[in-house]
Amino acid sequence: MNILKCLIIGSGPAGLTAAIYASRAGLSPVVYEGMQPGGQLTKTTEIENFPGYPNGTTGTEMMDDLHKQAARFGAEINWGVVTKVDFSKRPFSVTIDETNEILAHTVIIATGASAKYLGIADEQKYAGNGVSACATCDGFFYRKKTVAVVGGGDTACEEALYLASLCKKVYLIVRRNVLRASQVMQQRVFDTENIEVLFEHQTLGLTGDGVVEGADLIKCKGTDKEEKVHIDIDGFFLGIGHQPNSEVFKPYIETDAAGYILTQGKSQQTNIEGIYAAGDVADPTYRQAITSAGTGCKAAIEAERYLRDNGI
Ligand code: NDP
Repeated sequence: MNILKCLIIGSGPAGLTAAIYASRAGLSPVVYEGMQPGGQLTKTTEIENFPGYPNGTTGTEMMDDLHKQAARFGAEINWGVVTKVDFSKRPFSVTIDETNEILAHTVIIATGASAKYLGIADEQKYAGNGVSACATCDGFFYRKKTVAVVGGGDTACEEALYLASLCKKVYLIVRRNVLRASQVMQQRVFDTENIEVLFEHQTLGLTGDGVVEGADLIKCKGTDKEEKVHIDIDGFFLGIGHQPNSEVFKPYIETDAAGYILTQGKSQQTNIEGIYAAGDVADPTYRQAITSAGTGCKAAIEAERYLRDNGI
């Protein structure tokens, strides 16, 4: 069985940057794209903060470019999801889509993170019928309608701004009395007439006959100003952050309590030599395209050095 020098799992900025560096280093890397080819960036709108794009770009364009750049140097990019790993022996074993076992001397885990849900039963009940975690994917269906976005960070503000350009009205449901988002995003939200920020509101449930028609909220929960509020909405968007996609690796790879893969000091190496983690799956702090690309680069350089030091 052919043993790969370098297997890269994930195709966001971390995975594809690792693929560019690994292919240029002659490691003939193979990339498995995962459930969301291109990663989370394909679900954002404008990217204005990635160096080198003075006029901004879109997530999809940037990921297309990275994909082409990796392919140009010989990286093989395939579709498939990792369903099992065995990191107890070398070469490492990774199973794709439950049937296809791949052996590799080094593995770069760049599986990113996925949107979080509130955990209320109605999110399941109305899944695909008014509940979404991706404004850019689904916003189109809510043109000239009224929607709500939950969250107070950059994700929620970005979703609210995008939806405000399509919808009649956007509620931003924020659990505290402040936004966590960057100042520039906060200002844009406050300057947008059809966004109404509902500070100190939490979602109790959704209502509607088959599709979302409203949300029951609670205002100032636990205080003497506590009050139940109902809003009429056609769509309910989650924007409350992300969780790392590390589950399948956990039997072997150390993570923190939230599931972020732990790396050694300044390196991208995990607790196992030859296995590296890059991008959001290992980054609870920065979670930017540029930092993901940087850690993808580091992981590939470290994989190359490991292979060389071990005469592989
Ligand atoms: P954050 O963790 O920054 O924000 C999550 C938000 O959701 C917070 O306001 C949080 O509230 C709220 N929240 C979390 N759980 C719940 C819950 N159960 N009920 C109600 N509200 C909840 O996540 P983001 O995804 O917004 O951002 C992650 C990182 O990505 C950040 O570093 C951000 O800057 C970056 N980013 C940058 C973008 C850009 O530059 N264009 C776009 C998107 C993200 P609370 O504040 O009370 O904790």
